[in-house]
Amino acid sequence: MTFKELELIEPILKALDQVNYEIPTTIQEQAIPILLQGNDLLGCAQTGTGKTAAFSIPILQRLYKSDKRKGIRALILTPTRELAIQIGENFEEYGRYTGLKHTVIFGGVPQKPQVDALTRGVQILIATPGRLLDLQAQGFISLKGLEYFVLDEADRMLDMGFVHDIKRVLKLIPEKRQTLLFSATMPPEIEKLANTILSSPRKVEVTPASSTVETIRQSVYFVEKAEKKDLLLHLLKAPDIESVLIFTRTKHGADKITRILNKNGIPAEAIHGNKSQNARQRALTAFKAHALRVLIATDIAARGIDVDQLSHVINYELPNIPETYVHRIGRTGRAGHEGIAISFCESEELPYLKDIQKLIGLQIPVVKDHPFVTQAGSQAQATKTEEIKAKAKENKVWRGNKANGDFWRRKKQGQAKTATKK
Ligand code: AMP
Repeated sequence: MTFKELELIEPILKALDQVNYEIPTTIQEQAIPILLQGNDLLGCAQTGTGKTAAFSIPILQRLYKSDKRKGIRALILTPTRELAIQIGENFEEYGRYTGLKHTVIFGGVPQKPQVDALTRGVQILIATPGRLLDLQAQGFISLKGLEYFVLDEADRMLDMGFVHDIKRVLKLIPEKRQTLLFSATMPPEIEKLANTILSSPRKVEVTPASSTVETIRQSVYFVEKAEKKDLLLHLLKAPDIESVLIFTRTKHGADKITRILNKNGIPAEAIHGNKSQNARQRALTAFKAHALRVLIATDIAARGIDVDQLSHVINYELPNIPETYVHRIGRTGRAGHEGIAISFCESEELPYLKDIQKLIGLQIPVVKDHPFVTQAGSQAQATKTEEIKAKAKENKVWRGNKANGDFWRRKKQGQAKTATKK
């Protein structure tokens, strides 16, 4: 399947060619025709599957083919500013030759430039909920002419307590519209939300490009809390860690590790909600350009980080929500690259590890050969494999769907062919 076969218009095909997209990902192949026909969509997919292009391309195409009316006609609601910026960049890339205008709004920065952009006129708005409602209340935004509404990372939105904001937004937009909801997981609250906002939706489910089984090598290190920093310093000595994203549960924790690493001669920066938008953007840009090897982030700040060839993810602390583990390790092994996900587990985190293994349906291999090893882990790893598998089924983990992994494999082979041709 090619993008041309998806009946995309020339200005979009040209733009996709420029960003070197050769073939559609599984979610693009499945979702684009559904969306071009004007259906609502429920997408079970997370970052890394190509879902942003799956929704932005049909929106661009339908807007391009319509009457070019001014005013906000598409709204993409997303939980974090990083994700909003990322989506904005994608609209920029794919919509370059359509003449359609978009802008991105989010909190934590002065509103003036955002208001100026809105005043100049846009058809597509990418927003986080708080700033959207704020600017709407001030009269800078009207959503009365909205035709397309995308709720991105819906599970994350609910986790972050945006449920009331979403309800307020729904009151501001027309009932007649095309609605898309994307979520990495499908807990009952999301199904309920989907039932209320979608109308006869078509459903598309895919595994992330690098599902937990495909291209990410996972391992767990049992270590006492007090020795985690020593283990980290020990691991970072290895040169094969080219770029590593380290996750902590708290902002304070992220700062603390940054200080320890810097003191030990390892340049590292932290990104989290207490840092200014500029500082976060600077660290992220350096990290993306591989000028900074070590980035430390909290879960919320890390949403939307899309770095090519991120070799390692380290969970300095295990998340208490198992889905978060899947989100975190999905930052490595992207676009068919091999990735390594290392988790530190202290005795108090054993229940978290157990929950994670049930969700992903895998027993994460234990690394016993390190200087700070503890015995605490053996009991967690005694969880019966069958029990894990049964639970995974119950949790609707899409391990069975290998189609998306196949996409990246095909793409990789395609790239290999191109490389030999040269
Ligand atoms: P997303 O799931 O939207 O965050 O996309 C993950 C990554 O895949 C991004 O870096 C996209 O630029 C890239 N991507 C999306 N679709 C394609 C495609 N068809 N071919 C190659 N790369 C893609």
